[in-house]
Amino acid sequence: MGFEFTEEQIERYSRHILLPEVGGVGQAKLMNSSAFIVGAGGLGSPALLYLAAAGVGKIGIADGDVVDISNLQRQIAHGTSDLGRSKALSAQEAIKEINPECEVQIFSQRLSIENIRQTLRGYDVVLDGSDNFPTRFLVADCCRFENIPLVSAAVLRFEGQLMTILPGEGNPCYRCLFPEPPPPGMVPSCQEAGVLGAVVGVMGTLQTVEALKVLAEIGDPMSHRFILYDALESSFMTMKRASDPECPLCGENPTITDLVEYDISCTMVRSESES
Ligand SMILES: [Zn+2]
Repeated sequence: MGFEFTEEQIERYSRHILLPEVGGVGQAKLMNSSAFIVGAGGLGSPALLYLAAAGVGKIGIADGDVVDISNLQRQIAHGTSDLGRSKALSAQEAIKEINPECEVQIFSQRLSIENIRQTLRGYDVVLDGSDNFPTRFLVADCCRFENIPLVSAAVLRFEGQLMTILPGEGNPCYRCLFPEPPPPGMVPSCQEAGVLGAVVGVMGTLQTVEALKVLAEIGDPMSHRFILYDALESSFMTMKRASDPECPLCGENPTITDLVEYDISCTMVRSESES
């Protein structure tokens, strides 16, 4: 594919290049690709570290928070010396330390219906590591409208879930499985219910493996499956996932034709067009 590696790149990525499924061609694809991570938190930390280490050419990160001491139990891209600093900036430094060749784009505001399409547009894959339902649905809808593959993960207490959502007809979307956010108070947050830090690391790493497969075009993406991980039972359960003809976003008679904004209690507040 006409891609010239330097001696240093051949050494740095030698364990990838040795894999017949990846090889020089796959590594070149990774280096020419881009990934966007929503949230530089528990899921985003291993994602950004492994994407950088893998040599993904451009990494975008959205996070509007600052590093808090309660984050350090699981958000391993940040350290004690980062307390009080912007998570997006701290994440950028962590990437540059691992791999100075990665281009990093940081976005230190909350993603909203006004800014998300321009922010994610052009990326080759999105990893959702957000911690709230309004952002989760916003990211999933945006990826559908912008035709960007999405790897979605979520964690609570000792359990994690994961799926890959590919664009296009015939590929089930996020809303085929979860048509609407749960009613307020139905699902507690990690802040309310707690989470084992290493479980977030497992799910964020699985999410990154899926994203790297999409970028290098290898293996079988989890586009028609859904994984549930139970750390206490040490079990992975894989379930089939299919398109729902009644889906409000990609079904036969869609009721959602543009981005929807939910407030933090997950009540739909408005729908607005964006071109
Ligand atoms: Zn759907």
